[in-house]
Amino acid sequence: MGNRHFIVIGAGIVGVSAALYLQKDGNQVTVIDGRDPGEGTSKGNASVIATESCIPVATPGILWDVPKMLMDPLSPLAIRWSYLPQIAPWLIRFVAASSEKRVEQISIALRSVLVHALAAHKELAGLANQSLMIKDTGWLGVFETDKKFDSYQWDLALQKRRGVEFKILKQEEIRQFEPSLNPIYRHAVYFPENSYVTDNFALVQRLANQFVAGGGRIVKADVTGFEIGADGPKAVKAGGNTYPCDAVVVAAGAWSKKLTAMLGHKVPLDTERGYHVTLPNAQKRPRMPIYSADHSFAITPLDVGLRFAGTVELGGLDLPPNYDRAQKLMNHGKRMFGDLDETGRSDWMGFRPSMPDSVPVIAQGERFKNTFFGFGHGHIGLTLGPVTGRIIADLAAGRDPGVDLAPFRIDRF
Ligand SMILES: Cc1cc2nc3c(=O)[nH]c(=O)nc-3n(C[C@H](O)[C@H](O)[C@H](O)COP(=O)(O)OP(=O)(O)OC[C@H]3O[C@@H](n4cnc5c(N)ncnc54)[C@H](O)[C@@H]3O)c2cc1C
Repeated sequence: MGNRHFIVIGAGIVGVSAALYLQKDGNQVTVIDGRDPGEGTSKGNASVIATESCIPVATPGILWDVPKMLMDPLSPLAIRWSYLPQIAPWLIRFVAASSEKRVEQISIALRSVLVHALAAHKELAGLANQSLMIKDTGWLGVFETDKKFDSYQWDLALQKRRGVEFKILKQEEIRQFEPSLNPIYRHAVYFPENSYVTDNFALVQRLANQFVAGGGRIVKADVTGFEIGADGPKAVKAGGNTYPCDAVVVAAGAWSKKLTAMLGHKVPLDTERGYHVTLPNAQKRPRMPIYSADHSFAITPLDVGLRFAGTVELGGLDLPPNYDRAQKLMNHGKRMFGDLDETGRSDWMGFRPSMPDSVPVIAQGERFKNTFFGFGHGHIGLTLGPVTGRIIADLAAGRDPGVDLAPFRIDRF
């Protein structure tokens, strides 16, 4: 099927998944990353395989939230003032993607890949003998106020149109369903389709080990450029060395924009920064991941502890973190669960790779046919990493990926 040499740039969940699928097709594959596998955004996410998550971040009415995003640096969706001039063009496209019509189209596109996400996860985890890392528990969205739950009816109707299954729980059912929660919730919605990975970082590391065991090579260096021939890139420059190749995959997460430009495509990629707090000794352990709809973050019972992760801060790749946002997650967490043991607590910030329409780029290059792109997965990159890898290998092999890839084109903006 393939005996070309592919260089995959980026060893996050997307790059490692692409590397494994390309290797499975018989290709020789080198992964290049300046950090060890999984050390980017894939390190600290909420670890949820969120197949129900077909709603983009920008929904109708988002424009009216912009002033609050600017005024309150701790709000669930915040913009850092000093980054406003740089992110303005992205924000305009973000708001443009929020119309009813666009959101309907985007949800159809997202759902078309989300329905394949779990199968790809299970295939790769199986390959690496890590099937037990995936738990099919579903997840529970919880609501403290009627107002929030009422506004969520719009989301549920959209998800229903996309075939997402859910069950609404009555107030008195919530604690029976999830006994670890304080009795402060008036509404809850259970999504049985979702799964979670017991340790998202370890998963990427173990998949990378499997890739190396299968004959793959990982080089630790930053990619700085390409040698371009008449038919596209023929070598990748990294860490002062030049690595010849037949084809290139850009899977460098939030850092993909410059590399993509060098290969002939301008993309409006930016980052939605997110935070987490992980408590290794929390002394509380829900049965499944929970989503606080009131405050837009997830709580996941990981092997490494209880993780509180989420929210969005538009602040680019270079501004320092604002760990008050992590503390705010912790405060909400205590309200949900009561006292939590913070011994060994760790706080983290990560860079979601985000396109303005919340749709990732999963594509073959239009400028050079030996270039492939998998980035921009925003809030659902752990979920979609393996299926993105599978689709990239399909494109590389000339197979039908079984998904309409038009909405995921690199030149759609
Ligand atoms: C708080 C938070 C919670 C989240 N929760 C979830 C969740 O529950 N479920 C879900 O599906 N998603 C979630 N996400 C999103 C998910 O984490 C990301 O979408 C995903 O990790 C992106 O993976 P990636 O492989 O594209 O990027 P990354 O993991 O960032 O990997 C990119 C890699 O490229 C490397 N790189 C960059 N530039 C270069 C270069 N020039 N040369 C070589 N290497 C380079 C980086 O070092 C990095 O290792 C969450 C994100 C955050 C921040």
